[in-house]
Amino acid sequence: DTRIQRIASSIRVVPDFPKKGIMFQDITTLLLEPKAFKDTVDLFVEQYTGRGISVVAGVEARGFIFGPPIALAIGAKFVPLRKPRKLPGEVISENYILEYGSDCLEMHVGAVQPGERALVVDDLIATGGTLCAAISLLERAGAEVLECACVIELPELKGRGRLNGKPLYVLVESH
Ligand code: IMP
Repeated sequence: DTRIQRIASSIRVVPDFPKKGIMFQDITTLLLEPKAFKDTVDLFVEQYTGRGISVVAGVEARGFIFGPPIALAIGAKFVPLRKPRKLPGEVISENYILEYGSDCLEMHVGAVQPGERALVVDDLIATGGTLCAAISLLERAGAEVLECACVIELPELKGRGRLNGKPLYVLVESH
């Protein structure tokens, strides 16, 4: 697929960022190429049109870039899943373990109603911990998570297996 190739070649890999040994996948260069950015959104919209999705939940921060155009195109609401103490209203929180230390995602109470059908969007899945926490938040609010969608997967880290059996749709694998 030429669209996938354009997307893959627009992602910059930055060695030793944010620390030594990490090959950082940088999607800001994808955003600089309007065709690649549009192809990315179009592929997700093709995947999720007509599936009764009423909620697109985006993970801070890069899920806030890809989630909203998908939500608008499929006629769904957009719900931000944020780092702690960013959301002003009442929240539910989900802690999760990182390679070093832990992190937390929060969602506004009332943003999602029981029975809603949700899609979770982020730029990248590594260990899967972040998406696992996102799924938990939505399920605690009574939503049904249909699928998770990321631009990039690092398959060696086997994050796909941590998603409680939820399907994962990715555009590019990085080895
Ligand atoms: P996980 O929880 O280990 O799957 O890590 C995924 C989270 O870390 C996502 O929110 C990503 O945005 C972020 N992340 C991890 N590695 C990278 C990278 O190489 N580029 C961009 N984001 C990354």
